[in-house]
Formats: sequence, structure tokens, C-alpha cells
Amino acid sequence: MKKIGILALQGDVREHFFAIENCEAIAIEVKRPSDLDGIDGLIIPGGESTTIVKLLRIFDLFEPLQKALQNGLPVYGSCAGMILLANKIIDGTSDQETLGVIDITVKRNAFGRQVDSFEQELLIPEIDVEPFNVIFIRAPWIEKMGADVKSLADLTTTNGLTHSVLARSKSVLVSSFHPELTGDLRVHRYFIDKIC
Ligand code: GLN
Repeated sequence: MKKIGILALQGDVREHFFAIENCEAIAIEVKRPSDLDGIDGLIIPGGESTTIVKLLRIFDLFEPLQKALQNGLPVYGSCAGMILLANKIIDGTSDQETLGVIDITVKRNAFGRQVDSFEQELLIPEIDVEPFNVIFIRAPWIEKMGADVKSLADLTTTNGLTHSVLARSKSVLVSSFHPELTGDLRVHRYFIDKIC
């Protein structure tokens, strides 16, 4: 069975933990550098990206985690996790650092106040023919991506703009939405089976 770490500093850690266990994989909370040893993949949960990055620094995890990811540890970041993995952030705080392991520019809180949180049907042909019902909570979207990044799902907003909300580059998967909140395990299974 594969061992999947969940970065357990802040955010919806428990929900990802249960999703991983329901995929018949072993879930492990990652709170210190040694927890990174021996895992096959890592999930960075949603929450508040500015808080998570501060805690990474306080727990001396920022550099070891960044090194592990640069060395190819597969990672899936949802929402705040996507922001943490991106190369660049729009509307971040002035000093907001990122791990910078996927060539995307992410816009924080991109969907605006009036639709801070919403549910949406989404097609992800790479994973399944049946549509997904996904939840966005103060979500970012991908504003720009490099040539080595592939969008796996796009969303068109009410004002007609289309943005990627799920993307992959080699061993890095990022989503704007929260599959861990719906009980639908297909995104987690895709990460475990196809990326880890
Ligand atoms: N807006 C949050 C941030 O900037 C992300 C929200 C989420 O993870 N649900 O970190």
C-alpha cells in the first residue's frame, strides 16, 4: 500500500486523511521534516496559504519540503495548497512566499466576494467521463501556465472568462477546488494511482 503524507499544519487535514484512507492507502500526518521520509506522495490541504507558509517557517519545514518536492516527491495541492506550490501569486500578501514547484501564476480569491463559495459541475476527461461535482471556497484560479503544465479542467465564470482550475506538471497536481469535501474519491485515486 502506498503511503501518502498530509501536510498537517492548518486547514482541512482530516478530510484529506479520511479520503486517503478510503482509497486503501496509508495516510500519514506530516508535521516535521522526518515525517517526509518514506512517503510516496504528499497532499497540501486547503486552508489559508499565508498561515500555512508561516507555519512551514516556524516548524523548519519550508526548506526540507521544497527540497523533497524538487527531488520529485509527488504532491497534490488543493486550493491554498495550489497557491503554495505555484511559482507566482497575484493578490498575495507583499511578503508571501511559495514553494515554487509548478510553473503557474495563481490568482488568490479569484472568484470574488459575491461567489466566495460555490458548487459546480466540472468535466475532467483525463480522470473520468462522468462529471464531477466540486466545491470552491474562496478559491484561486490559474491565470497563466508554462508550456510543461497541462490543464485538466477549465471553468468559465459568469462574465465569460475561462480559467484552468485543475492542472498537472509531471509529479505536481493542483486544484482550485476541494474534492476532499464531497466524498468523491476520483481525484485522490488519480493522484495515488497515476502520479505517486
Ligand atoms: N483564499 C485562501 C488562501 O489564500 C484559500 C482558500 C482555501 O484553501 N479554501 O489561502
